[in-house]
This record gives sequence, structure tokens and C-alpha cells, in this order.
Amino acid sequence: MDIEHLKQLQGVDIEITNVLQEKLELEETLKRDEDGYRSAEESIAEFDKSYGQLDTDKRAKEAEIQQTNEMIKRWDARLKEAKSGREYQAFMREINGAKKDIGEIENTVLKLMEEMEKIDKGREQQKQQLDEIGKRLQQMSAQSRERISFLAKQIEGFEAERGRIAESVSAGLLGLYEQIRKQRSIAIVAVKKSVCQGCYMNIPPQLYNEVMMNSRIIHCPHCQRILFYEAEDHGAVQRNPKKNKKAV
Ligand SMILES: [Zn+2]
Repeated sequence: MDIEHLKQLQGVDIEITNVLQEKLELEETLKRDEDGYRSAEESIAEFDKSYGQLDTDKRAKEAEIQQTNEMIKRWDARLKEAKSGREYQAFMREINGAKKDIGEIENTVLKLMEEMEKIDKGREQQKQQLDEIGKRLQQMSAQSRERISFLAKQIEGFEAERGRIAESVSAGLLGLYEQIRKQRSIAIVAVKKSVCQGCYMNIPPQLYNEVMMNSRIIHCPHCQRILFYEAEDHGAVQRNPKKNKKAV
């Protein structure tokens, strides 16, 4: 009977959906961690780049200080040999100007060093994050990948089983099942005490009798799902696909 095959088909489809869901979640977690690791790495590279730029600037400023100091030394020597008060004053002006310049450059160097320190702290934090993600990735990824490939094999098995069951269902009914499944996710449900277990609405008595007779495919007039009769003392078969599979 088609309805029994449909029930089996739905059981396998539910299994496939569940396994796919688990696989997808594992893959997403893995990808999130890998992306996180990559972006932490990129961020560290950015820090290094900024730090390197500041360091270059700092070295240039330090070289400037050195050059200016040498200039001061030269002026200082000429100052001692000054031939007039005017000449002496001129060298003094140069020397004082240069000393002022050095003060300003030293301030710039200090600011650069402060910035470098900030970058260094940020980099340190990022590095810690990177190490944490790295550790987690190492522990998880092997385990996750193993589980993912196990689940993929499981899905293959279910798909093969599904194919075998689907062969026993007429093409028209299979199409109908797929269509309802797309809209309602569960396509075939039990009727218990005249109540559709898909939408929990009452089925008219005449239709209920027909479902009990199980002689043709009956749709719930409210949710359009395909109905099958279930004795009242049974558990909610359609909610437990594994049990359902064994029952049929
Ligand atoms: Zn219904």
C-alpha cells in the first residue's frame, strides 16, 4: 500500500533532515572558527604594519636629532672662535634654534613611542585571541571533520534507502508528497480521534471513515497533509520517525 511506503519515505526524510542539520551546524562552527582565526591573523599583520611604519618614523626622527646635535657641536666650535660679538650672537641664535628643534623632535618621538605601545597592547590581545581560537580549532577540527564525514556517509545511506522506497511509490503520489513536504515539512500525518495530528483540526466524520478504510489517499481538508489512520491506543507515531519505521 502506497501510504505505508510514504510513511517509510517520510521516516527516512526526517532522518536525512536531522543528519543534514547536524552536519551543517558542525560545518558552520568550523567555518566560523577558521574565519575567526584568519581575521585575527590579518589583524595582527595590520598591527605589525602600523608598528613598522611608526618605528620607521621614529628612527627617522632619531636620526634628525643626531644630525642636529652634530650641527650644534660644529656651531659650538665656531662659537669659540667667534671674531666679533655679532658673530657670536649669530652662532648662539643658530644653536638655540637647533636646541629648540631637538626639543620638538623629542616630543614627536615620545608621541610615536606612546602610539607604538598602544599598538603593541592591541597586538598582544589579538595574539591571545588567535592562540585561543587556534587551540580550539586544533582540538575541534579533527573531531568535527571526522563526525562530518561520518554524517555524510550516513546521508548517503539514507539517500540510497530513500531511493529504494521511492521506487515503490507512484510518481504522481511522490510528486504530491514532495509538494506538501515543501510547504509543510511534514507531509503525512496520523488522524487520531478524528483530529489531524498535523494541524489539530477536526476531520469530518465521512472523511474520517474513509481514512480508517485506507482505500485511497485522503488529504486533511484544513492543512492538505496526507492522512493515515492511527488506533487511539498507539503513541504519536508520526512524531517518532524511528519508531514509525520499525512499526511499518
Ligand atoms: Zn490537518
